[in-house]
Amino acid sequence: MRVRLLEATDNPEELICRGARNDYMSDWVGDQSFDEAMAGVDGDTIEDQKANFLAKLLKRGHYGPFEHPSATFAIEGMSRSCMAQLTRHRHASFDVQSMRYVAFDDVDPADVEEGEMVVTPPSAIDPDWVGRNQKNSDVNAATIEEREAVFRRSVRQSVEDYQELLDLGMPPEDARFVLPIGTEVNVVVTLNPRSLMHVADMRAAADAQWEIRDLTEQLLDLAAEWCPHTFDYYEAEMKHRKNRLAP
Ligand SMILES: Cc1cc2nc3c(=O)[nH]c(=O)nc-3n(C[C@H](O)[C@H](O)[C@H](O)COP(=O)(O)OP(=O)(O)OC[C@H]3O[C@@H](n4cnc5c(N)ncnc54)[C@H](O)[C@@H]3O)c2cc1C
Repeated sequence: MRVRLLEATDNPEELICRGARNDYMSDWVGDQSFDEAMAGVDGDTIEDQKANFLAKLLKRGHYGPFEHPSATFAIEGMSRSCMAQLTRHRHASFDVQSMRYVAFDDVDPADVEEGEMVVTPPSAIDPDWVGRNQKNSDVNAATIEEREAVFRRSVRQSVEDYQELLDLGMPPEDARFVLPIGTEVNVVVTLNPRSLMHVADMRAAADAQWEIRDLTEQLLDLAAEWCPHTFDYYEAEMKHRKNRLAP
């Protein structure tokens, strides 16, 4: 799976600070330069002031100002299973690639069997992998070989059946019912820092599934470049808090 930042609010942390400073001053923030708006906040430089103020907001649970900026990410090749998990989060906006544009006809079923267009879970190929719901961690080489063979056979069969149904004239929107839930999809998602922190609270946690954890870690890495003070603080002080929903 690949994740890219498509577009994001410029100066997001300045915007968060401006929003929050509005709450604590009698003057109108609309008339003030950023330096003026930050007057009185601890810190030797404006960057220090920003870092201190953002940390203070997060520490207090004053999350509202973190809803002002937004970032849009493009995700390539997530499974439809992972997409179903991500789209449960209601404070995000989504565009999901239609399956009508996912064509298996120019792909060799052998390549699909090897992992093209359908996500292969690590538990199908890695003997050392321990899944969150795995009852038995004692997986020997023969078992994993068998597991991989069954997984790949099943994926290939689904794709071949899908093609056959299309050849029999079945509409693609109906034929796709036989495709695996691991079929890849491209998604565009827009989040604000608050909603991304909430998604990360739930989806970067140890009990979340590996694929959405991987996605969330990639989103957090990109967010740390976009909103460095906020996501550095989140990483250091807040990550792995369990389902902390709101102050
Ligand atoms: C490990 C794990 C296992 C899961 N297993 C299942 C499962 O088996 N089946 C299943 O259906 N789901 C499952 N989920 C999904 C989970 O129950 C949530 O639906 C999903 O993570 C969305 O998160 P959220 O409820 O915090 O809502 P979000 O949409 O992310 O909203 C963020 C917050 O806004 C508030 N909010 C949003 N909408 C409302 C509302 N209508 N009313 C009140 N408050 C609201 C809540 O405080 C909420 O936490 C699982 C999630 C995880 C992390």
